[in-house]
Amino acid sequence: MNRREFMTGMAAGAALPALAAGSACAGARPAVEPTRFKPIEFPGLAPRPDFWKVRPQEIADLCARAAKCSRKEIIAHTPLGHPVYALFYGDFNDAPPQTNWSAGLSSTTWKNYMGDPPPAKQTFLFVAGIHGAEPECVAGAMNLIQMLETGADFRGRADGALLDLISRYRFIVVPCANMDGRAISPDHLRGLGWRDFRAASQGTWKDGSLIGWRGSKSWFPLPLDKVSYPGGYPNADGYNIMHDAAPGHIRTAEARALLRLAERWRVDAVLNGHSYEYAPSVITPSSIDAPEKVVRANAIADRANAAIHAAGLNPRKPKANRPPRGIINLNTMFALASGALALTLECSVSFDRPLKPPKVKPTRTYTFDELMEPVFVTLREYLADGLERPFLVRGDDRVFGD
Ligand SMILES: [Zn+2]
Repeated sequence: MNRREFMTGMAAGAALPALAAGSACAGARPAVEPTRFKPIEFPGLAPRPDFWKVRPQEIADLCARAAKCSRKEIIAHTPLGHPVYALFYGDFNDAPPQTNWSAGLSSTTWKNYMGDPPPAKQTFLFVAGIHGAEPECVAGAMNLIQMLETGADFRGRADGALLDLISRYRFIVVPCANMDGRAISPDHLRGLGWRDFRAASQGTWKDGSLIGWRGSKSWFPLPLDKVSYPGGYPNADGYNIMHDAAPGHIRTAEARALLRLAERWRVDAVLNGHSYEYAPSVITPSSIDAPEKVVRANAIADRANAAIHAAGLNPRKPKANRPPRGIINLNTMFALASGALALTLECSVSFDRPLKPPKVKPTRTYTFDELMEPVFVTLREYLADGLERPFLVRGDDRVFGD
């Protein structure tokens, strides 16, 4: 079989799984189990606005309804049986890569991985809700999907500039990767103090003490028999999907599916949507990648942070060109899976500074609109940057010998 026959065969075969996956997954969808821990409740939490749709059923329903996307997949089921959806906008008819990125990068030509011809547009993946307790990027992704589907988000607003940018890419959105964590988490954490935020996120031990942000990373998985509440950070098996990043030992269906998604569709750039207890920012990328990619990713983070500041969403003027540190997480794995640049956006869950009296007092409480606005600001800057100069130099056309 020559290369053309191989690619043609793969293309013909590739059309079927997409269709079969859509219908088969819908039919064979396993029953969703009830949560293994009682969802945490905070009396007095303000009711959410109508546009803030972040509950697992709402996410699954919107994705199931989506009709404007060119492709739709349930890429995984969570330990509780929730579907993890990916919606695709743009042309996704390319045959699967004939090699992986690792081999392809070192092969006779980079097109062995990217295809010949490669996709006409760069491929961008926006994944939200890897930490289920952090709903802001999920709310942003849901409003974005509604906008892509109907022309306006759940507030009735249209962002023509953003839609135009997205149309210049192949765009994949995973609105909630950790549906299990979302299922035990409140709709939002707005107005809560630092301790409640920590309890809702990383959970509490049986004696009521906080597991903590760093403390939660002492375990993989979190020992669920020792906790009174696991937090919405991990999935129902106690795994922090963001750190499911040991090659050869990926534990969660969610992480495995996201990495396969990136590899299959030759993803060039990833926005990984999270939240924390500070003013929003795109965090400095890891130093563990090709040096030129680290420099580029850092520059895009600076650009997005300047825009977040200019939009009045972060009172502090961001420091540019911060030194990257050697962090290893799912973003590192995206880089290995498809060569992608990957950046993490941290929205705020409530305030511009953590409510941790007496040491720290916030100066403002974000509105619900403002809580998810960094998603749109960051996407605009990230996508615009990739049009000014491609995210990656995959290789050149020189076919080098053996
Ligand atoms: Zn997070």
